[in-house]
Amino acid sequence: MTQLATATQQDSPAPNVSFEFFPPKTDKMEAKLWESVARLSPMTPRFVSVTYGAGGSTRDRTHATVAKIAQDTPLTPAAHLTCVSATKEDVLQVAEDYWNAGVKHIVALRGDPPTGMGEQFEQHPGGFRDSVDLIEGIRAHRPELGQVFEISVSCYPEQHPDSQSWDADIAFLKAKQDAGADRAITQFFFEPDTYLSFLDRAQAGGITMPIVPGIMLQPNFTGLKRISKLCQASIPDWLHTLYEGTEDDPETRELITANVAAELCQALAEQGVSDFHFYTLNKASLALSTCRLLGLKPKEASQ
Ligand code: FAD
Repeated sequence: MTQLATATQQDSPAPNVSFEFFPPKTDKMEAKLWESVARLSPMTPRFVSVTYGAGGSTRDRTHATVAKIAQDTPLTPAAHLTCVSATKEDVLQVAEDYWNAGVKHIVALRGDPPTGMGEQFEQHPGGFRDSVDLIEGIRAHRPELGQVFEISVSCYPEQHPDSQSWDADIAFLKAKQDAGADRAITQFFFEPDTYLSFLDRAQAGGITMPIVPGIMLQPNFTGLKRISKLCQASIPDWLHTLYEGTEDDPETRELITANVAAELCQALAEQGVSDFHFYTLNKASLALSTCRLLGLKPKEASQ
């Protein structure tokens, strides 16, 4: 683990940040989401993205959320879209609906089966084969739309569980780039070297698009362990040690999460990383403190 990040990045330019949210299910969650969006807005994110539930289960809620961001906030929304359980026509209709709502950035994903992460993905009859096929579909659908959508994709610093080998995983990422992806956002990770080694592999494999580190802000360590197991992202021993015995102490867990995220970002910034994507879980405070520790000031304060 690197040294504790107590100082701001005095000498480096302010980083570029983006925030990921999920579409809310209840009125209470909805209120929390919009409060978080309002609190994070002064950090002038490059974009804010909204996830698409497994199997397209949040199709309407994702649409409503990104459309509201486009209409009611100064932020640039990005809408996640997956290939799961839908025909190509249905998926492209969702993309077109995003476009018509003013959402011009798509995070294009294959997704997981409705049965959940870790299960074998099966192409829907008439659906997209994989994320490369989806990107090509978005690019080719109505050339006037295809040319202008910004497209982000996923990537995996510890290899995706479905990949046959490192070479195959990087080759697949290259295929996404060749199909028209503009940027890749990583799965979460906790060691700077995990990301930096992946960057080396990707560059050696011909990836030239930006690879933005995805920073997890999950203070619920039990939940984090569960999701890490499913997506095979490793949790270092030192992280287990840090959270040990904090099961009934959410405040301490939040502080640990904030420090761990700040240290990780600081270490990456020292290596020249300038863009960060935060998995906010719809909570503003951890993302805000990490941004501030990175030297980012809210818009009002920097004027
Ligand atoms: P891909 O990158 O398309 O495929 C995963 C891996 O499988 C590839 O790296 C490759 O090694 C292999 N592979 C796949 N197809 C082929 C092929 N044809 N030939 C060779 N190799 C192949 N899930 C959601 O349900 N909703 C979301 O909103 C969502 N957002 C996400 C955002 C980010 C930044 C990340 C990192 C993940 C997100 N996920 C989301 C999770 C994602 O759906 C799962 O990780 C899923 O298992 C893979 O989808 P993908 O687009 O990353 O897959």
